[in-house]
Formats: sequence, structure tokens, C-alpha cells
Amino acid sequence: MSRDTIVLAAYFVSSILFILGVKSMTHPDSARRGMQYAALGMAVAILGTLFLHDIITYKWIVIGLIAGSIIGYPLGMWVPMTAMPERIAISHTFGSLAAALVGIAEYYNAYHLTGATGVGHAEMAALGLEVLFGSLTVTGSFMACGKLQGFISERSVIYPYQNETNIGMFVIAVLMFLFLIIAPGAQVVFYAMTLLAVLLGVLMVLPIGGADMPVLLSLFNAYTGLAAAATGFALNNYVLIITGALDGASGFILSIAMSKAMNRSFTNVLFGAFGSATEGAVARSAEGLAVHPITVEDAALQLAYAREVIIVPGYGMAVAQCQHQVRELTDLIERRGGEVKFAIHPVAGRMPGHMNVLLAEVDIPYARLYGMEDINPEFPQADVALVIGANDVVNPAAKDEPGSPIYGMPILNVEDARSVIVLKRSMNKGFAGIENDLFYRDKTFMLFGDAKDSLGKLISEMKNA
Ligand code: NDP
Repeated sequence: MSRDTIVLAAYFVSSILFILGVKSMTHPDSARRGMQYAALGMAVAILGTLFLHDIITYKWIVIGLIAGSIIGYPLGMWVPMTAMPERIAISHTFGSLAAALVGIAEYYNAYHLTGATGVGHAEMAALGLEVLFGSLTVTGSFMACGKLQGFISERSVIYPYQNETNIGMFVIAVLMFLFLIIAPGAQVVFYAMTLLAVLLGVLMVLPIGGADMPVLLSLFNAYTGLAAAATGFALNNYVLIITGALDGASGFILSIAMSKAMNRSFTNVLFGAFGSATEGAVARSAEGLAVHPITVEDAALQLAYAREVIIVPGYGMAVAQCQHQVRELTDLIERRGGEVKFAIHPVAGRMPGHMNVLLAEVDIPYARLYGMEDINPEFPQADVALVIGANDVVNPAAKDEPGSPIYGMPILNVEDARSVIVLKRSMNKGFAGIENDLFYRDKTFMLFGDAKDSLGKLISEMKNA
């Protein structure tokens, strides 16, 4: 078998594995298998690439493989679930850096290698796209990672004419790209476009608040895919075109789905500086409303005698890392004859599927997790709705307050339950930065404290009951 045939066969097999991987990831039950297909696909693609004719020496490839494994292993094994968004951001930085560097190297070689004849118009279109979106994503994803991780302030940085400046710079970069397709030899324009894209990545992320970063991340995911597909065209590499297209399309679909679930338009996420504004809502305490704190003993009593309990997890469950305690409490309630269901809001937490992943980690079967449409009609029959670190996704302002930034966002109707117990540390606001009327209602009881601590106390109380 010739080397070319081996490469083609490997790329064919790996493309099928990547497609199967994405398909399997559409359901939590098969998601793990999907990751395995994708990892296998990657291994086959790398092995196939080693048979390429163009490889002169394996030295740098081996060094790259070792360096990549040294960086990749800890990233995969040791990064906690709560840090997944920043971990994804840093992966995008690496992916797009690779695409941008390959593009720059190809362009440089085309004009500086002896015997090279420059870049053709079609090749320039692919290279330009690769470098434009690749460079923009390198700095953009790095900034996003910094804001999420906290080494760059997560607050939005706003200045006059910011959107106009960013849009203007983007338009100039696109015009340079179009000019290059007509005149690929204009090297100064090529490098100027690259620098502009690098700068744009930084400026684009500045106005976006830390909590909005996941939507932006999936957009960068799409850009990385686009850059990879363009690299595939530039290098005539089919597997890159296919994986880039898969990555790009899924990134765009995810960004739109997330914006929809947050009831925000895509442009509003990019240009609205949401999460930065201090909400104008008057503090309910200032309106004379008071919350009803509950003791661990009383909360445990309610749970012990409840026939139906609906647990509503939110971002606070991820922060407290209390999924094991959630599992233990569920078992205890069920042992006493109660039924427990989980209500999962599509944007609970800080990334799509955040709650599902945490609950799957403690083997809560997927069949027990209910989406919003299925669980909302069940709340009136529930004796207790136990809200664990959720805030915005249970905020009735989404239905009752037309001026609210979350107005129109579909929410979980926990207030319909006979009793609502909320586990959170303080009266601090959630991601949207607004007051939550639910906490002041007559049948809502607040159990203040870190969710892990509170659940631990509830568990021991129920064991002794
Ligand atoms: P929120 O961010 O609205 O609220 C989380 C609550 O958890 C806070 O009020 C906080 O209160 C509490 N909390 C934090 N740490 C702890 C802890 N250790 N123990 C107990 N409670 C804790 O979360 P939701 O899940 O309700 O809503 C998600 C929000 O994020 C939505 O607005 C959504 O639009 C947005 N979003 C979601 C994305 C996604 O993909 N899922 C992406 C981007 C944004 P306190 O500090 O008082 O404890």
C-alpha cells in the first residue's frame, strides 16, 4: 500500500470517527462513547499524518507530541469541572494559534523559500481566512480564559465609541483580506491584517462581562473551526476541512442556542456588555420585605416527610462542588418513601450541560433529570422544591417584570411548589445581577450557608430523625 493510500485511509476513518463522536455527544448516555470515538479519530489522524510525503524529519514532530502530551494530560485529568469553561478557552487559544502559525508559515514560505512562486488567489482566500480568524481567536480566547480564571478583571471595560471602533476595525481587517485575495503579494497588508486581528481579539472581549464568557467561548469555538477548515483548504488536507466544518458549525449552533435560552439576542451578548450594568432594581429589603430563614432541623423535617421533592440545582452547586451530598440526600429522602426529581434549566450553571455533567458524576440517572417543559407542570404537586445554588433560573421577574433584563427568559416555576427551600450563602445576586422576588415570598425558606455545608448538616439531621 502506498503512503498516500495509507494517509487517505486514515483520514477517511478518522473523519467517520469524528462524525460519530459529535453524533454520540448529542445525548448524555452516549456522550462518553462520543468522546472516545473522537479521541480515537484524533489518534488515527495523527498516525496517518506521520505517513505524509512532505515530512523530512520526525525530530520536531516527536518533540511536539511529547510537549503536547505533557501539557494535555494535566489539562484533561486535573482541571476541576468548575474550571471547564477556562479550560476550553485555553484549548481554543492553542488550536487557533496552531492554525494562525501554519497560515503565516505557509505565506512566508511562499515568498521566501527558494523556488517558491508566491500564493495564488484561491489559496490566499483560504490562508487569509485562516490567519484572520485564527489570530483573532488566539487573543480573544486567552482574554476569555483570563476573565474566567480571574487573572484579568472579569468586569466589563467600557469606553466611548467602543462598538463603533471594534466594528470599524473588523471591517478594515475584512477589507484587507479582500484586497489580499486580489493582490496576494502585498506582504505588508498581510502582516498588518494579522496584527489587527490580534488586537481585535483583545478589544472584542474587553466589554464582555466574565459571566457572559461561555457564549463568547462557543463563538470562538466556531472561529477556531473556521480557521481549521481554512487551514485544510490551504494545505489540501481533507480531515482538517471536515473537522473544521464540524467544529465551526457546532460552535455557531451552540452560541445561538445559549443566547436563546438566556433570552438574549446574539448581538446583545457581543455588544450589550450584559452583566456589567448594576441593575436599577430597588433592593426588596428597602421595600420593607423580609426573607424567612429556616433552621437545618426544620428543613430536614420538611424533606423527611415530603412525598415529592424537586431538586433545582444551579451555579452554586458547581461552586460548592456538593453533588455527592446531593446524591446522599436524594438516597435518604427516597429511603423514607419520598420521590425525588431533578429540574434542569438549560442555562443553569455557566456552561451548557453543566448540571447534567455534575449529576452524572455521582451516577444520578439521566432519566431522573427533567427539562423545563416536563417539570414545570409538576411543581404544584411537589411538597418541597429544594433550590441548591440557583438564582436567575428560578427568578419570577422573568415572567412578572417587563423591565427586567431577564424578562421573557423561560424559568423553572418553583414558586408553584407547596414549599420552597433555598440553599445559598447570602442575599447576593446571581449572574444577571438582579433581585429575586422568590426569596421574599411567604412559602420560601432560606437556608443560608455554603451549599456543601448546609447539605452535610441536612444529611446528618435526616439520619438522626
Ligand atoms: P446564578 O448565577 O443566577 O446564581 C447562582 C447562585 O448560587 C448565586 O445567587 C449565589 O448566591 C449562589 N452560590 C454561589 N456559590 C454558592 C455556594 N458555595 N453555596 C451556595 N450557594 C452558592 O445561577 P443559575 O444557575 O440560577 O443561573 C445561571 C445564570 O448564568 C443565568 O443567568 C444564565 O443566563 C447565565 N449563564 C449561563 C450559561 C450556561 O451555559 N449555563 C452561560 C452564560 C451565562 P450566594 O453568593 O448568596 O451564595
